[in-house]
Amino acid sequence: MATEMTPDEFRAAGHVLVDWMADYLRDVGSYRVVPDVRPGDLRRRLPAEAPREGEPIERLVADFRALVLPGITHWGHPGFLAYFPANTSPPSILAEMLTAALGAQCMSWQTSPAATELEQVVMEWLRKLVGLPGGFTGVIQDTASTASLVALVSARERATAFAAAREGLAAAGRPLAAYASAERHSSIDKAVRLAGFGQEMLRLVPVDEAFALRPDALERLVAEDVARGVVPACIVATVGTTGSTAVDPLPAIGAIARRHGAWLHVDAAYAGSAAILPERRWILDGIAAADSLVFNPHKWLLTNFDCTAYFVRDVPLLLRAFGASPEYLRTTHDADVANFRDWSVQLGRRFRALKLWWVLRSYGVEGLEAHLRRHVALAADLAARVAADRRFVLAAPVHFGLVCLRLAPRPGEGAESADARTKALLERVNATGRLFLTHTALAGRYVIRVAIGGRLTGPEHVDLAWQLLQEGADG
Ligand code: PLP
Repeated sequence: MATEMTPDEFRAAGHVLVDWMADYLRDVGSYRVVPDVRPGDLRRRLPAEAPREGEPIERLVADFRALVLPGITHWGHPGFLAYFPANTSPPSILAEMLTAALGAQCMSWQTSPAATELEQVVMEWLRKLVGLPGGFTGVIQDTASTASLVALVSARERATAFAAAREGLAAAGRPLAAYASAERHSSIDKAVRLAGFGQEMLRLVPVDEAFALRPDALERLVAEDVARGVVPACIVATVGTTGSTAVDPLPAIGAIARRHGAWLHVDAAYAGSAAILPERRWILDGIAAADSLVFNPHKWLLTNFDCTAYFVRDVPLLLRAFGASPEYLRTTHDADVANFRDWSVQLGRRFRALKLWWVLRSYGVEGLEAHLRRHVALAADLAARVAADRRFVLAAPVHFGLVCLRLAPRPGEGAESADARTKALLERVNATGRLFLTHTALAGRYVIRVAIGGRLTGPEHVDLAWQLLQEGADG
């Protein structure tokens, strides 16, 4: 019967696993990106009950290798060109190991003072790195979905308080509306529902030919709502849409938000990291009019999932919406410190600042810039090749690391048939196991997304993607 691991047994097993991790990070490109498994394959091989007696760590490691690893999709594989990247990096992984060992609950300053203060410092570093003005304060959230929920709840809080102050209590019961482009991420729909607006109060604003929100259409929808007594509470602008990385025009949207007293939330989950690059800083032009911004270092900034940067202007309002201080959590320092449990939904919080701190220090700004620039250049290069090949259509402008493409209809061929060929092409490329691409729909057409952003992804992997796409184009 296995008992509590001794420190020496832990050390020995830890060394074995660190060796395994080092090999994995070196060799990840040799696996199939997506495993060749069927639903239920793992479940069938596992017992239905937890073991009565403890098992030795060697057996657990062996089963990890034999049972779990064959069913893993390798997000760090250089041929992983799917969704958006969710990078890890050696310093981030090591920091995660320390975080796990400390096991600190970072809900209050007192529950781990260094964790709170490190979070404050790294979020200030990050704020400056992406060029946000000083009025924004940062906090780490688990995901962009949670951060957008926090923004929507804050917007509701402000709109309700404003309406009541301006027009009396009766106004506080007026319906609230939120606005986002037809290309917004589904997390915005969720946040609108969870924040109590109701899905029907999310107004979808049409987009232009580059898939960016049309301010004229937004203005019209807001005016219609105001005319019928609905309060325009929140406008969500997306910088880097999930479908095509379109950038909504913040200056024009900000002007509308200001005119109507609406909260402006900017969802830059993927693309926000690119604002570290001076030549991409324009993507946040107009951010001064925003009330909140979210982006994910756990996407493009080499920091293990989860790590979301949320920046907000009105901290007292945030605390009013999310604060909860039962007696057992009160401390003598509360007036002088940040208690981050009051900045989001949950009470308990992981110590996420350590990995971000190590990533920023280990790579330095220059290393991060080089990482981001490499992907932007690779994407621009692939886009030029797609645009020059008459069998393909470049389906959206390329601003960052994402290239959207589809097969051009052949003479006399309908759009639906070309869509079906594009889908078959994607399936053929993915069946090789050497790459993983995903799809979306843009302007009603089936589109392949080539998302270049992996830490290990280089020109040879993009060349392979283009080679396989070209080979399949005539099929
Ligand atoms: N917003 C945008 C624009 C995204 O692309 C994504 C995910 O890709 C999200 C939000 C959701 O991110 P998370 O998984 O951190 O909730």
